[in-house]
Amino acid sequence: MTKHANTNAPNTEKGVYDVIILGAGASGLMCSATAAYQGLNVLVLDHAPKAAAKIRISGGGKCNFTNVNVTPEHFICQNPHFVKSALSRYPSTAFVELVERHGLAYEIRGGGKYFCAERASDLIQILRTECDWAGVQFQLNTQVKSVQYRGGEYFLNTSQGNFKAVKLVVATGALSFPKLKATGIGYDIAKQFGLNIVKTSPGLVPLTFSDKWQVRFSELSGLSMPVSVQVNGHAFTEAMLFTHKGLSGPAILQASNYWQQGQPIVLNTLPEYTEPQVFEALLALKKSGKSLPKWLNQVWPKRFTQIWLEAYPMDSVLSNITHEALQAYAKQLTHWQLFPANTAGYDKAEVTLGGVDTDAVSSKTFECKTQKNLFFIGEVLDVTGHLGGFNFQWAWASAVACGMAL
Ligand SMILES: Cc1cc2nc3c(=O)[nH]c(=O)nc-3n(C[C@H](O)[C@H](O)[C@H](O)COP(=O)(O)OP(=O)(O)OC[C@H]3O[C@@H](n4cnc5c(N)ncnc54)[C@H](O)[C@@H]3O)c2cc1C
Repeated sequence: MTKHANTNAPNTEKGVYDVIILGAGASGLMCSATAAYQGLNVLVLDHAPKAAAKIRISGGGKCNFTNVNVTPEHFICQNPHFVKSALSRYPSTAFVELVERHGLAYEIRGGGKYFCAERASDLIQILRTECDWAGVQFQLNTQVKSVQYRGGEYFLNTSQGNFKAVKLVVATGALSFPKLKATGIGYDIAKQFGLNIVKTSPGLVPLTFSDKWQVRFSELSGLSMPVSVQVNGHAFTEAMLFTHKGLSGPAILQASNYWQQGQPIVLNTLPEYTEPQVFEALLALKKSGKSLPKWLNQVWPKRFTQIWLEAYPMDSVLSNITHEALQAYAKQLTHWQLFPANTAGYDKAEVTLGGVDTDAVSSKTFECKTQKNLFFIGEVLDVTGHLGGFNFQWAWASAVACGMAL
């Protein structure tokens, strides 16, 4: 975004705007500044007392705001082509340029993840500054009672009076983290105008267990170890965290996007090794006469070794173990099959899978194909990114594409 004077004559009647953007989150702020820089009279309306609550708490308070390597393959959407246009027109380098112009200190962590060096609120301040420069108006703490379309205009009846605009952008996010004011209003508006909603479910979410493993994982709560997790043909190698109710950490959150109830997840507890390599390592242990638990303690946290050997008794010294048994050990260590009972739900989910069907929305302008001047951007759409800054990059890219088209 570059700052320039508004040239169009803005709509100045009280409560009347060129564009109302519903939702002052990541995509709403970005879209409003982009649109206001085009000279449009823009109102951002939100029921929360403050803008961008999710940015504030994201990335452990440092907001993983984008990624070096953003490709369409990092996104889940019924139409895998939908994300391509916006992502290519507003790449992560464009957002990095924006924050650099504002002097944001950032760091790039493993996997190309950009984080604020200090605090996520610095990023909110940048977006608010852009909105101020562009002349965006805000109406926070405002409950929307109804949305109507009459005579080519959108009328919003709210707890703070009536507002109308020619164009309405729905940037209300999705269902995750209701304590941060997440609601399904975006889906309700979509349905009101005849759009289809792709079934929603919690994404990037811890997995819970109800069998014997829940007790064992609870004993390990707080412990983290690297694993490779496979689910439904997708594999992720990252850290896994044990919790009181089951499993979390980046590897599990990534896997949760692809997991469905009743299905197993398969863990390689020695992600540096393949099954044949583990077999070779066990064979070498057998020959040397060294202890298996001692070796496991070198590659795993000790508390995990203890729990594992309680669950899967294995001989300490492998001298008398047959090759077949060693092969079975290698398989168990690299293909540990677990059946989660459920996810931890929307309360703990970073994102929501599913949403407004992208078939009904232009991938270039984000306008509804069947309803003039109604736009959907950000997470309310059926677009979900992997963990790593991809969800914010989608918010920025869809917002800019829409804002430019308004
Ligand atoms: C704990 C957590 C950590 C995360 N960390 C990261 C991360 O590090 N990197 C990353 O890429 N993604 C992260 N995400 C995901 C990311 O926050 C979202 O994908 C992103 O914020 C979506 O942007 P959005 O503008 O579509 O929606 P939001 O940012 O959720 O904004 C929606 C706005 O709409 C408003 N709204 C909702 N309902 C109503 C209503 N009824 N009336 C009026 N206003 C309403 C809300 O108050 C909110 O301000 C995280 C999410 C969570 C929950």
